[in-house]
Amino acid sequence: MTRPIVADISAAALRHNMAVVRQHAPHAQVMAAVKANAYGHDVALCAPVLAEAGVDAFAVASLEEAETLHDLRLERPVCLLGGPFDAEEVAVAAARGYLLVIHEQRQLLWLATHAADAPLRLFIKVDTGMHRLGFAPDQLSAVFAGLQSHPCWQVLGLMSHLARSDTPEDPFSRQQAGVFVAAIAHFGHCTAGQHTLANSGGVLALPFTHQHWVRPGLMLYGLSPFAGHSGTEIGLQPVLSWRSEVVAIRELAPGDWLGYGAAWQAPAYCRVGVVAAGYGDGYPRHLGSGAPVTVAGQATRTLARVSMDMLFVDLTTVSAEIGASVVLMGAGGPALESLATRLDTISYELSCRMQMRVPRQLV
Ligand code: PLP
Repeated sequence: MTRPIVADISAAALRHNMAVVRQHAPHAQVMAAVKANAYGHDVALCAPVLAEAGVDAFAVASLEEAETLHDLRLERPVCLLGGPFDAEEVAVAAARGYLLVIHEQRQLLWLATHAADAPLRLFIKVDTGMHRLGFAPDQLSAVFAGLQSHPCWQVLGLMSHLARSDTPEDPFSRQQAGVFVAAIAHFGHCTAGQHTLANSGGVLALPFTHQHWVRPGLMLYGLSPFAGHSGTEIGLQPVLSWRSEVVAIRELAPGDWLGYGAAWQAPAYCRVGVVAAGYGDGYPRHLGSGAPVTVAGQATRTLARVSMDMLFVDLTTVSAEIGASVVLMGAGGPALESLATRLDTISYELSCRMQMRVPRQLV
């Protein structure tokens, strides 16, 4: 008998969410963001399903993540969103055919140390207002002048990233798109025209950002980028269902204390389930007492402090025995978005938090 904790990863939900991307951006190529282990969902499980569902390329944050995808042999281009981090990475990327994102002068020097006749496919990152990565528009002339001396390097297109696509009514995205389109007007002819701007928020709500490639991440996992809305409310299906079981039951008399710090006291008779999941699995300790949780299909709440390997649920009005199924978050339980709001964070962070000791399984 193994510890009864598992994360179900729904292939049907991944396929559904990919279809939603296509509905919103029917003319774009889809580059699926699968960095950070597919936002914690397990890239080895998700990427093959997404490839089958028609994803055209994958985007990752590091060479290590690209190598993981390479080993999966999905025969789709892999793009290093952070570009190469040193000259050696340029050599590996060239050998593997990874697409590089060039956002900084230093990277151009690393490219120059690489054999000029070795093909390299590049995006040039433009800073359209987020001020995270990318060349300012007035630096692009010098960048393209330098690139032209290496005819083997193919610039696929310009890339930029939206800072406020989670609030689509905000004029900021339109301003960013304006800067991007102006850069394309000047330098698009030096590229293969494969420009890319939109992330999930852009795909769903800002069609003017779609361009040649869209780069959705969050929405593929069924999660909503928009505050106050769950993925389900906007037609997505949650991919993750994080489950465990009740492994012990305690009956507390009024006044009994529960858990570490004896920080929670039963106000009345209370039936408590002990669940095999804790902060060591990535369940946030800050969710604390009173977080929603589903036990044997019934909505209830957590109690007392979360331990490393266990947490408590209120079974006083729930019909459940030892072995009852507990959904901590995701399909069949509380939405990640609502838990994230409770934690004053975003669902991106919550899904990435789930530790590798929680086995993922494709269902
Ligand atoms: N493109 C870049 C450069 C990113 O950093 C990210 C994610 O952070 C994405 C695309 C995907 O964004 P989202 O998950 O909001 O769709």
